[in-house]
This record gives sequence, structure tokens and C-alpha cells, in this order.
Amino acid sequence: MAITLPNLPFPKDALAPFISANTLDFHHGKHHNAYVTNLNKLIEGTDLAAATLEDIIKKTAGDAGKAGIFNNAAQVWNHTFYWQSMKPKGGGKPSGAIADKIKADFGGYDKFSEQLKNAGLTQFGSGWAWLVLKNNKLEIMKTANADTPIAHGIKPLLTVDVWEHAYYLDYQNGRGTYLDAFLNNLVNWDFASAQLG
Ligand code: MN
Repeated sequence: MAITLPNLPFPKDALAPFISANTLDFHHGKHHNAYVTNLNKLIEGTDLAAATLEDIIKKTAGDAGKAGIFNNAAQVWNHTFYWQSMKPKGGGKPSGAIADKIKADFGGYDKFSEQLKNAGLTQFGSGWAWLVLKNNKLEIMKTANADTPIAHGIKPLLTVDVWEHAYYLDYQNGRGTYLDAFLNNLVNWDFASAQLG
């Protein structure tokens, strides 16, 4: 069963002006789609052809001989998770159980947002910044290139893509401005709360 490209969970122009339809056209239609196409080519006729995306990631993580499969599979998974991490009119402070847990584990929303922004800004080159649950505690994590918390047995709640293709058309080199827009206007706290369970 081939891996498929999921639709965006919102209309392509719904995140504007924070993320433009033009960016999503390239990012979902070209980049995300290319990872799906490449992955299907790489697993065709192998023992991974019938595996789920999560299983492909877990079975190839850390295997240098399968880096191509891992990179494409993890990028497919990470992008799908990233789209779900955003919504129109999102962002700002959460409420409910996740707000209480952010207060308990970070000392407050401002400390959480500062740490997530800092993780995104300090990820050298391409990668991802994450809010994760590790040992029942919320933490900020950053991963390089295609790497993903699920390859390390860590549960992600939110992610923001800091590859240049995620923001360059809208912000050029302004990664910090993009991260501010993500935090203030795009975060889907309903999705993050659902991951927390
Ligand atoms: Mn991307």
C-alpha cells in the first residue's frame, strides 16, 4: 500500500498573511509531495512496502544504509504533523489542561514561547522545533534535517518547520519573525491538547 500525500487541514489561503498560499503551494504541493513520491519509489518491492509510515520510520532510524528511506519517511510524517500544528486564527496562550501543564513544566507561557522560539532560531541549518512530552513532562526539542521525536520514542505535541522553504518566500531570512507569527497567530492548541490526551 503506497504512502499518500494528505490534504492540508485548511484551505491554502487560510493562514495568510502569516503563511501565504504561495508558500503552501510549494511547501505542500512540491516539497511534501516530493517526499511522498521519493519514499514510495524507495520502498517499492522491499519488505517495507506494506509497512505503516510510523513503522518505516522506526525500522530505519539510525541505519546508515537506509538513510534515504528514513529521511523521506520522516519528512512525510513531520510535514503532516506540522500542518496539523497550525490553524487559521490560532496561536497565543492556550487554556485548559495544557495551559496548566505548560505552567507547571516551563514556569509559564512566556517561558515556553521563548524556549520554542529559541530552539527554532538556534537550529543550525534545516530542521524542526518541537513541543514534546518526555517522561510525562513537557519539553522543547529541536531536530536536524528530517529527524523526528518519534524515532527516539518521544511523543510530539506540536512542531514548527524551520527549513528555509517553510518561510523564505514570506519572510526571506527572517526566521525569528516567522517563529513569532507561528506562536502568536498559528499554533493549533486544540491539536496539541489532543496529543496530550
Ligand atoms: Mn518543510
